[in-house]
Amino acid sequence: MAKVKKRAKLSKKRPIKSKIKKIRPKKVIVDIKKLMVLEEAIKYVVEVSGDKGLEVFNYLLKRGTMEENSLARAMKFEKANSIRKFLYKLYNKNLVSYIKKKRGKKAWYTYYWTANAERLIFLLKKQYEDEIAQTKQSITLNKVNDFYICNTCNRRYDVTKALENDYKCANCGSILQHLDINLVLNDKQNRISFLNEKIKRLLGLVKYK
Ligand SMILES: [Zn+2]
Repeated sequence: MAKVKKRAKLSKKRPIKSKIKKIRPKKVIVDIKKLMVLEEAIKYVVEVSGDKGLEVFNYLLKRGTMEENSLARAMKFEKANSIRKFLYKLYNKNLVSYIKKKRGKKAWYTYYWTANAERLIFLLKKQYEDEIAQTKQSITLNKVNDFYICNTCNRRYDVTKALENDYKCANCGSILQHLDINLVLNDKQNRISFLNEKIKRLLGLVKYK
């Protein structure tokens, strides 16, 4: 009797956990070779962690999970400390992750690092989506505004500014040209299609099994 009571109490305490179904995470396979030749992928990782960081990222992608010291040695870093700087930069964007393990009775932890290619795809996709959103917004703005452009330095002026400057470029003094708004809108639409195509190609590099 007492046993049953105890059990009932326990299950009352943790009702949620028992309801959660264990979902096995889908296996993600990224075409690393095709991803890491993309100019924007390279550019992104270099901006986050520098040329050396890109090397670390690429190395981890190829090799899978690696223990920090072995990684440092394999990449010919002098100390684990000197590679950590790059790993942390990548980690800030979740481009790499780590697990730490205690080895035997030693007081310190051993770190195992893994590169996350799927995350890079997500970040690039986000970049494209942001640009699409901005372009869509500027299309809405352009529809109500006329523009003038300086063909010498490519600066744009709205009607008010152009009039203020006597239809001359404030930067170089060239005569401003009226901009065909339909051409501008067309350009922007093309840019959106181009970016959507890029997203599609990017997502084509990921497979879920
Ligand atoms: Zn100008």
